[in-house]
Amino acid sequence: MYYVYDDRNIFAKILRGEIPSKKVLETEHSLAFEDIHPAKPVHVLVIPKGPYVNYDHFVAEASDEEITDFFRTVGKVARETRVAEAAGGNGFRVLSNCGPDGFQEVPHLHFHVFGGAHCGPMIKRDG
Ligand code: AMP
Repeated sequence: MYYVYDDRNIFAKILRGEIPSKKVLETEHSLAFEDIHPAKPVHVLVIPKGPYVNYDHFVAEASDEEITDFFRTVGKVARETRVAEAAGGNGFRVLSNCGPDGFQEVPHLHFHVFGGAHCGPMIKRDG
């Protein structure tokens, strides 16, 4: 496995403060911000601060601390945006597109957290 991270991507620019974002929360290793084109009433992106292209790259090369921080941040976002049942919400979806077949547009790992409305079936079946 060999991934090359390109730091010209838009999320790298957000992390460097070169373009603005609507921050939801930030931890030592992760950043959560609102998606610019929300697909649901709650649509937040969670990214690691480190230079990881996708999920596979992240879990293979990130430290345990970064991985724990990232996954806990996804949970915190769900609670703080109140889509998690524990926060009085009605459920949510977590999704990460990886690579061309996964339809990943930005080559910096991101998890989408969707909620605030029914998300429908997970994916359209072929044929
Ligand atoms: P994906 O197709 O899974 O790579 O998702 C990329 C997501 O990034 C899309 O949902 C876009 O709406 C979102 N996006 C692109 N540019 C920005 C930006 N500057 N700020 C926030 N979200 C963005």
